[in-house]
Amino acid sequence: MSRVALTEVLNCVGGEWKRPSGSEELVVYNPATGEVLARGYGSSREEVDEAARVAARAFEGWRRVPVTERVQYLFRLKGLLEENLEDLARTVTEECGKTYEESVGELRRGIENVEVACGAPSLMQGYNTEDVARGIDEHLYRQPVGVVAAITPFNFPGMIPLWFLPYAVACGNAILVKPSDKVPLTMQKIMGLVERAGLPPGVVNVVNGAKETVDAILDHPLVRAVSFVGSSPVAKYVYTRATANGKRAQCQGGAKNPVVVMPDADWDLVPRVVAESAFGCAGQRCLASSLAVVVGEARGPFREAIAELAASRRVGYGLEPGVEMGPVIRRESKERIEGLIGKGAEEGARIVVDGRGARVPGYEGGFFVRPTVLEDVPPEGVVARTEIFGPVLGLVHVRDIEEAIEMVNRGNYGNMACLFTRSGAAARKFRYEVQAGNIGINVGVAAPMAFYPFCGMKESFFGDLHGQGRDAVEFYTEKKVVVERW
Ligand code: NAD
Repeated sequence: MSRVALTEVLNCVGGEWKRPSGSEELVVYNPATGEVLARGYGSSREEVDEAARVAARAFEGWRRVPVTERVQYLFRLKGLLEENLEDLARTVTEECGKTYEESVGELRRGIENVEVACGAPSLMQGYNTEDVARGIDEHLYRQPVGVVAAITPFNFPGMIPLWFLPYAVACGNAILVKPSDKVPLTMQKIMGLVERAGLPPGVVNVVNGAKETVDAILDHPLVRAVSFVGSSPVAKYVYTRATANGKRAQCQGGAKNPVVVMPDADWDLVPRVVAESAFGCAGQRCLASSLAVVVGEARGPFREAIAELAASRRVGYGLEPGVEMGPVIRRESKERIEGLIGKGAEEGARIVVDGRGARVPGYEGGFFVRPTVLEDVPPEGVVARTEIFGPVLGLVHVRDIEEAIEMVNRGNYGNMACLFTRSGAAARKFRYEVQAGNIGINVGVAAPMAFYPFCGMKESFFGDLHGQGRDAVEFYTEKKVVVERW
């Protein structure tokens, strides 16, 4: 695929590319320059209805394609994603702001999900028992659910659609992908590759938009299952509305990820890994650590080291070599983040490194916030409790591991929690007691591999079956039990 500048937000339904004509205007920016990359509109209720009907018709044929054949399309898609990795990564950076290396990283994890979904012939197997009564056998089959939908956030424009699309398709479903209204261009390119992989029209469809489009998906009777990733209030809303309409739903929400630093931690590792976790992707990762809970005498050394790394991180346009951190997604995000830093200071936190008012020469129109570190953050204040979703790390000081775990579990979210220590006993206690779906021990971004579920608890997840791996196969299949006598 050549690198074509996409300037329009387009749907792809049943193999036809069309301009959606809903009432919500979509504007896609390059957050490093502030320039508009593309414009368009969301999809109306009628357009969502058409897409669901097209997908339902495609599903009837697709579910009959043997699973061994279905995955051949995914093998081809994997090859095409690899071949076009550079182009896709540049698009991710252009519309989302993260560095080119970070874009490559997210696409790699997306491709891993395609690889895992290629195991559908084994993953979809049922089971059976002979002679449950004399001459009677019982079998469990897994069948596709039908038309499913994935609604995805701005911060991983390539990876998160690929948390869902490959499994849905491998299991025999047809899918509507509703990319983030802020970053629809990467998915447009991925859809081009889906077409080149030869998937029958209508099996994968892209339906752009924001709330109007999401509501139409959630209310549509032909859509049987909804996967969502985004902020907690919207996750809760989507879960409530989808399930009230009789759909199965898996809704991953926001996060406020604590990282606990023990005095016995490996000091060659901790500051570098925590800085990467807090400031990588400009803190716009659902697995970004944003609260460092520093235990005992770890306080001084940790503050000094993290402050130095925060102040020296190279901020700029993610396509330029050597840049370690890009902008945040929107001007409003920059203003919101800077406002929260100010509020944190008003509440009594001490600003150690102040990233407000950042200016990057040559990119004066960009939405940059530099890495920020606040110390002595009040445990009940905004910096300790709010998902800031920017490159801001708050530091709280506690006496021991018990107090640290109490601090971790006090939060509303349960996406990730990390511990840095050399003590197996502390690590075991942490793993056992902490209420978070993804735990890192001496790891700063505990992102589950594609063959493990991406977990989450409390306000970070609504549902039971998670994305990725076997959970995805469970989510995208109905179970049918047959009891038979001949
Ligand atoms: P968001 O909630 O604003 O948007 C997510 C999706 O919902 C988008 O497709 C958007 O168009 C749609 N949407 C937005 N408002 C809506 C509304 N009122 N009604 C219906 N649909 C709506 O999230 P975002 O800002 O795009 O993404 C960042 C958030 O996603 C952060 O909170 C982050 O922690 C979270 N996230 C979580 C995970 C996870 O695995 N738990 C992964 C990535 C991102």
